[in-house]
Amino acid sequence: MRMTELLAPTLRETPAEAEIASHQLLLRGGFIRKAAAGIYTYLPLGRRVLAKIEAIVREEMDRAGGQEVVLPIIQPAELWQESGRWEVYGEEMFRLQDRHQRQFCLGPTHEEIITALVRSEVTSYKQLPLLLYQIQNKYRDERRPRFGLLRGREFVMKDLYSFDRDQEGLNESYRKMYQAYSNVFRRCGLDCRPVQADSGAIGGNYSHEFMALAAAGEALLVYCRECDYAANVEIAVARALTKGAAEDPLPLKEVATPGQRTVAEICSFLDVTPDRLIKTIFYEADGQLVAALVRGDRELNEVKLQNHLGCRQLSLADPQKVREATGAPVGFVGPVGLSGVPLYADLEIPYLVNGVAGANREDYHLVNVNPGRDFKPAAVADLRQVEAGEPCPQCGAPLSQARGIEVGQVFQLGTKYSQALGANYTDARGEEHPLVMGCYGIGVSRTMAAIVEQYHDDRGIIWPLSVAPYQVVIIPAAMKDESQREVAEGLYRELVAAGVEVVLDDRDERAGLKFVEADLIGYPLRVTVGKRTVTNGTVDAKWRSQDEVPLPLEGLASRIQALLAEEMQKYR
Ligand code: ATP
Ligand code: MG
Repeated sequence: MRMTELLAPTLRETPAEAEIASHQLLLRGGFIRKAAAGIYTYLPLGRRVLAKIEAIVREEMDRAGGQEVVLPIIQPAELWQESGRWEVYGEEMFRLQDRHQRQFCLGPTHEEIITALVRSEVTSYKQLPLLLYQIQNKYRDERRPRFGLLRGREFVMKDLYSFDRDQEGLNESYRKMYQAYSNVFRRCGLDCRPVQADSGAIGGNYSHEFMALAAAGEALLVYCRECDYAANVEIAVARALTKGAAEDPLPLKEVATPGQRTVAEICSFLDVTPDRLIKTIFYEADGQLVAALVRGDRELNEVKLQNHLGCRQLSLADPQKVREATGAPVGFVGPVGLSGVPLYADLEIPYLVNGVAGANREDYHLVNVNPGRDFKPAAVADLRQVEAGEPCPQCGAPLSQARGIEVGQVFQLGTKYSQALGANYTDARGEEHPLVMGCYGIGVSRTMAAIVEQYHDDRGIIWPLSVAPYQVVIIPAAMKDESQREVAEGLYRELVAAGVEVVLDDRDERAGLKFVEADLIGYPLRVTVGKRTVTNGTVDAKWRSQDEVPLPLEGLASRIQALLAEEMQKYR
């Protein structure tokens, strides 16, 4: 490709709306443009990177036995009503009507449509296992589309669905996908960590997320350096306590705490440490008011609470409702004497001795609160967020923490969808069973952004060779110099003929500007044809983040191919 013909509109300034490196650099490098919030156009360079990632994904899915299909983006409401998810999906779903007022949605995911397909096309155990996948746009009306390609409303996903006879078969399909995912992300150059994960709205009971480690990641994970434990904090298991403080319970007492609402304020006012406090947090769970209790030095984990309650919707309760239920404003509420609101206590709560809690009276707290004596929770469960330094639930070593971008997730679904939609097969004895399913997603466009998060510097992107839009850029320092131009054109023709993906920066621009743009776009290998080419018979070759080395003109094209082949070994 000639730079004079390539549509790669680079931007000198960082667009104000872009907060993180990948968003900034993909805009500045001319890879993407925004059409609406969370909706992007891919320009030629962006499309090439996406195609590279897709090709890697496709190879690994095929290698694992996957068969590619294309499922419709527009899906009829009836299927979603059959599975019960038409309501559950809520505002995240883009819904539309046809001219006959029939309801449809733009697919946010494809379990329903694929299960319906398999229900009618697969009947016998002989047709199993079956692994079907597609690479296609998904539509989710995210509450907060942001960070460019990381959280879009229209984005590219690879989704594969496995159909097996039984749990054993599913385990095998899951194992294959887990391995395929590790291969995909390694070949994309990503530093990625699989972690145990919550299965969320998709349902099912066993899941892993693949996290690309990056400071910009929205996910928080904990992992152990001593054993293989790694989990999203949403589900990371807290070690249970076995004993409380060696103190005698004292009589419950109400104390005035005028204007003291926060943990920090109460601790300093009453001169106690935060681990003595009982935080009482009110939620609405499918419309019902509940209260969750964690120690003052802990954070409540909403995913754990929601999973424990098994509710569809969980949100912080409206402060007015809290006041109606307790008689006090938020900040002065507590578990003692509270009736009509079920209390869910974290594992540490029962071990508190002489704790502090809101008195359900404005400007008052209770001291010497003793759980068990002073209030009875409806249930005690692991509800708090695990933090760095806490003991690993497997081996007890201190846990480390990191931020990650969820680039993929694998789920064991079991029979949730096959039962809801009646997708069965008959075994060798003629008995009917529901298909046992798994589903496996990769955020292809999110992966593109995640790669940029891991591979950039203050000058621009540093594409791993396996996913670079072009592998080589040839820069003639002075396009007007006839001998430089001839060498550059000759090398370009040879590389193109050899199948190398190469850009010739044939613009009549300053060399400095061409270098700046090449660094911004992030071509892995830069070959500069300049004065020394004519005087010494060499060009300057430079990997994006290394120093220049001179290469002789003699046999140059094959030398470059050999360099590329060697570098490509890293991404096998
Ligand atoms: P998240 O928790 O980030 O919202 P999710 O768990 O809802 O994602 P899945 O349903 O597991 O997403 O979808 C499979 C993959 O699709 C995810 O692992 C992620 O890489 C990608 N993905 C999901 N939502 C988006 C989005 N809004 N923009 C880009 N990629 C996305
Ligand atoms: Mg997910």
